[in-house]
Amino acid sequence: MTDHPIYARIDGPVVMIGYGSIGRGTLPLIQRHFDFDATQLSVIDPSPEVAGLLADKGITHHQVALTPDNYKKLLNERFPDGKGFCVNLSVDTSSLELMKHCREIGVLYIDTVVEPWEGFYFDTPDNAARTNYALRQAVRDEKAANPGGTTAVSCCGANPGMVSWFVKEGLMTLSRDLGRDDAVPADRAGWAALMQSLGVKGVHIAERDTQVREKPRPRDVFVNTWSVEGFIAEGFQPAELGWGTHETWTPDDAHGHKTGCRAGIWLNRPGANTRVNTWCPTPGPQFGFLVTHNEAISIADYYTVGDAANPAFRPTCHYAYHPCDDAVLSLHEMFGAGRVQKEHEILDAGEIVDGVDELGVLLYGHDKNALWFGSRLSNEEAKGLAPDQNATGLQVTSAVLAGMVWALENPEAGIVETDEMDHARCLEVQRPYLGPVEAHYTDWTPLVDRSEHFPEDLDLANPWAFRNVLVR
Ligand code: NAD
Repeated sequence: MTDHPIYARIDGPVVMIGYGSIGRGTLPLIQRHFDFDATQLSVIDPSPEVAGLLADKGITHHQVALTPDNYKKLLNERFPDGKGFCVNLSVDTSSLELMKHCREIGVLYIDTVVEPWEGFYFDTPDNAARTNYALRQAVRDEKAANPGGTTAVSCCGANPGMVSWFVKEGLMTLSRDLGRDDAVPADRAGWAALMQSLGVKGVHIAERDTQVREKPRPRDVFVNTWSVEGFIAEGFQPAELGWGTHETWTPDDAHGHKTGCRAGIWLNRPGANTRVNTWCPTPGPQFGFLVTHNEAISIADYYTVGDAANPAFRPTCHYAYHPCDDAVLSLHEMFGAGRVQKEHEILDAGEIVDGVDELGVLLYGHDKNALWFGSRLSNEEAKGLAPDQNATGLQVTSAVLAGMVWALENPEAGIVETDEMDHARCLEVQRPYLGPVEAHYTDWTPLVDRSEHFPEDLDLANPWAFRNVLVR
């Protein structure tokens, strides 16, 4: 890519919180696509390693961890004039508290996950409180209590994030391919009605990461293509999914919620140790892990038709994640040993010798059975598109870029999730960084080739029932 459009001007400071794998990939995109005062760019991150990296680039670094006690003071110092952009790409900081404070002082805000303060994931004894449902609902409650005002974009990475834009592109693709003439819906109710009328029963966020390096994974090292800390934290949260109206069977360890949007359930087991049957273009049928994610709840909520507690239609929606092979082995080792490896490694774009991150949405249950719509970005292509990141990283950072552009173009939109943003505009900005973005239909269902080698208790009348999707 040689042509780098400047999308907007950012008035005031640009402060990045967290400079890990995602922060490092986002920084060059901010520098490339926005007009801003470079002397006002700074990073807050407690890591000493980050200090060296930023010194090389001449960027101001505040080597400190944000905590419940210092975050207001530190943000007030960084943003003295009530303008600028706060880009939160850290772990162990409360997205809700940071977002609230940025809105109070008039600073635009974006993050890629609803993150809690340090300690929350492993020191909270109540599994219901550890769900993404609970974390997300707190942000939705804040939006309801304080509508409008300075824009804060919640959960705008690849997933959660970009995949919500893919759901909309996928629905319009399906509409066209079914020979229908649906107009692009103008609001949430219109999108939900479209999904219902197209006969979609559910959505897998279906991902296959095939990125690999030459060196075999050493024993007792957790290897991944993005934050190991982030993946372990979410992997130990309970498995969780948006719960659709077509489901007739519920797992024994499922729990619902009595308050909030009611769109999801959680299972009393860690998501990264829970497998589902799913499908991606490269492997075809595969196992994915039912790792909890914000979008599993937000998409099910957004596409609900009727009363939240007793809906006329709601899709089932969940993540079905096959991480890179080294991460699969790392999970196997971690759950088997009953302890987390102390050494962590993130595969660097330079050491990866092959592979793609194939990340899309599988819209299933309709007259054409199932449609996968997504990005099939290879590491090789990613290296040519932007510096300092692998394919996984670029799918996330380019969504952050798109979300920032949208926020600058819509600065008084209040708290928004990616389902609520203009998907066409966001994908217009992001698409140059996504490699091939493709639609693939498949005849596969979770019943194909089942019971051939081992008799199973399946719902033969409803191929896409969660009873068939979940590996029990
Ligand atoms: P990382 O572990 O590589 O980096 C996290 C950074 O946060 C580190 O540099 C760390 O020093 C810093 N940090 C830790 N505690 C901090 C504190 N109290 N204050 C400020 N900084 C602190 O993680 P990553 O891969 O860069 O991911 C960053 C975030 O993005 C994570 O929350 C992750 O879950 C999220 N993420 C979202 C998506 C998505 O698609 N939505 C994808 C990947 C990552």
